[in-house]
Amino acid sequence: MSKAYNPYDNMLKVLEQAAVLLDLKENDYEVFKYPERELKVAIPVEMDNGLMRVFEGYRVQHSSLRGPCKGGLRYHQKVDIDEVKALAAWMSFKCSVVNIPYGGSKGAVKVNPKELSKTELKNLTRRYTAMILPLIGPERDIPAPDVNTDAEVMGWIMDTYSMFKGYPVPGVVTGKPVEIGGSLGRKEATGRGVMLITRETLHRLGIPLIGTKVAIQGMGNVGGVAAKLLHNEGCLIVAVSDVSGGVYCNTGLNVDEILSFLTSNGGQVLQDYNVPGVTKITNDQLLTIECDVLIPAALENQITELNAPDIKATVIVEGSNGPTSVEADIILEKKNKTVVPDILANAGGVVVSYFEWVQNIQSLMWDEEAVNRALEKIMIRSFNEVWDKKKDNNTTMRMGAYMVAVNRLVQAKKIRGIFP
Ligand code: GLU
Repeated sequence: MSKAYNPYDNMLKVLEQAAVLLDLKENDYEVFKYPERELKVAIPVEMDNGLMRVFEGYRVQHSSLRGPCKGGLRYHQKVDIDEVKALAAWMSFKCSVVNIPYGGSKGAVKVNPKELSKTELKNLTRRYTAMILPLIGPERDIPAPDVNTDAEVMGWIMDTYSMFKGYPVPGVVTGKPVEIGGSLGRKEATGRGVMLITRETLHRLGIPLIGTKVAIQGMGNVGGVAAKLLHNEGCLIVAVSDVSGGVYCNTGLNVDEILSFLTSNGGQVLQDYNVPGVTKITNDQLLTIECDVLIPAALENQITELNAPDIKATVIVEGSNGPTSVEADIILEKKNKTVVPDILANAGGVVVSYFEWVQNIQSLMWDEEAVNRALEKIMIRSFNEVWDKKKDNNTTMRMGAYMVAVNRLVQAKKIRGIFP
């Protein structure tokens, strides 16, 4: 049995590999092994039944070297500090690889939001915001949606922060509702980025998009949008899954029908999607299903040494953060698979978060076409830089991406120096 997976150890191992390829001295990158700041809070919430529950929350700032810290807020019952630390570090590398002027951070609350009423969730969010208030702000650290948080939650954060300040501060969070300063195109941005990166990767590999078979684990904001956009590009979406399990059809699923099924009647799960010609599969089966492109878009540590040998897809595009373990990476490289790493593949979200923040601090509003055009430009530029780095160094795309990202961070550190 392998040792229990620790996402922070995984991050450190990948960082070490990139440091070797970049020929860095310990001094150059030692600082990236530690988050700059970690805050743990206990959040009391009065529940609807009158009882009080206390939830554990975190905000971790990994690096502010290249700009204000930036990263999502996650609500999940299994989250712990090592996961948040890893997610914060991945944000530093993500913002660096796409070259937007941000550092990296992440927040989380250990809670299953599905067990809370709307009022309880709102009170939890407001109290959490009040407790991390000294750390956040448009020039310090800017939260955004992540697993189980959405525009509504961001709106509560914006309002709470603004009430403390005494004036509206839309730039304190991104991924807000458009009515209060959110950006057009932000909701779809991560999925759109996944589509763009998949398209570019297939193009470089000489694989046509039309008819390419795609399997997607996770039908949330990332997987659902990626499914729709790749389907529009002519791909066959052969398998998709959510927490309840997955569905498979070798000739291609009806993506539009599935997406409207999932949102109908106040939200349904795939387990209850019964259509002739569509087979039920488990989330594990989805990962090793017959397809050309596999898009993990759920949680960390899905592709491991246990299932990596059985993966059929030739291209893996990481829609979620940290889906592949270091051990699995080695297996996939030997099998000649192309793994497009999370820090590039799912960066579309934070890129449009950056556009949202830019609009907020300038009091401007861009139209959706301008947002999508600017996103595409950054994603393609970053993809090309990573691809060239991978080719020049005869390495993997993950290492190509980390070499670009870590190098920018090292340069920033050299230029800024250490105070005092
Ligand atoms: N949670 C998203 C991510 O992991 C978006 C972060 C952001 O927009 O700041 O990239």
